[in-house]
Amino acid sequence: MQIRLAAELQKDSIVDGEGVRAVLWTQGCSHNCKGCQNPQTHSFEGGALIDFEEVKSWIDELEGHQGITLSGGDPFFQPNECAEIAKYAKSKNLDVWCYTGFDFEVLVRRSKNDQGILNLLNNIDVLVDGKFDISKKSFDALFRGSYNQRIIDVPKSLKENKISLVEKFYKEEKKYNPLQRKNMYI
Ligand code: SF4
Repeated sequence: MQIRLAAELQKDSIVDGEGVRAVLWTQGCSHNCKGCQNPQTHSFEGGALIDFEEVKSWIDELEGHQGITLSGGDPFFQPNECAEIAKYAKSKNLDVWCYTGFDFEVLVRRSKNDQGILNLLNNIDVLVDGKFDISKKSFDALFRGSYNQRIIDVPKSLKENKISLVEKFYKEEKKYNPLQRKNMYI
C-alpha cells in the first residue's frame, strides 16, 4: 500500500497539536481556502507516492514525541491510507491529531457510506476541522489558522453523537487572549 505525501515526516513540531509532534503532510486537497498557506499540497498528482513500510519506519524512529499529526493537503482525501497510518501510530503509543477542511458533521454523515472515513475517524484523538477562513485568521488561535476551526475530541463526540470540543485548549487560549476571543467563534 502507498500514500501520496507532500513531504517526509516532519519531526519536532510544537504548533500542530499538543506536545511535541511529528507531522505527516498528505498531498491533495480541493477545498481551495482563500489564503491557504500550503497551495503546493493541493494537486492530487503532486508530491510522491510513498510505501507504507517507509512511513512506518519513520514512525519507528521517533523519540520523545507525544503523537503524530495528519495534515496536508487534506488527509480525508486518502482516508484508508491515513487510517492505516493512524492505527500504526496508536499501536506505538502515539496519539493522533488530524487537520481537515471538512466539517466534522459532514465526515460523520459520509462515514455511514464510506468505511475509510469511518476507520479514519475511529483512529483520531483530536480533529481540527473546517476550512481556513481568512476573515477569522489569527496567530493567537491555538493550534489552528482561523477561529472558525474547531478542536474536537473525536472519541467523545462519536460516542455521545454530538460535538465535544477539547475545552482545555480554549481555556488556555482565552487566558492569553481574552479580548480578541470575544465574538470570534461561529
Ligand atoms: S483545507 Fe487546508 S490545505 Fe486545503 S485549501 Fe484549506 S487550508 Fe489549504
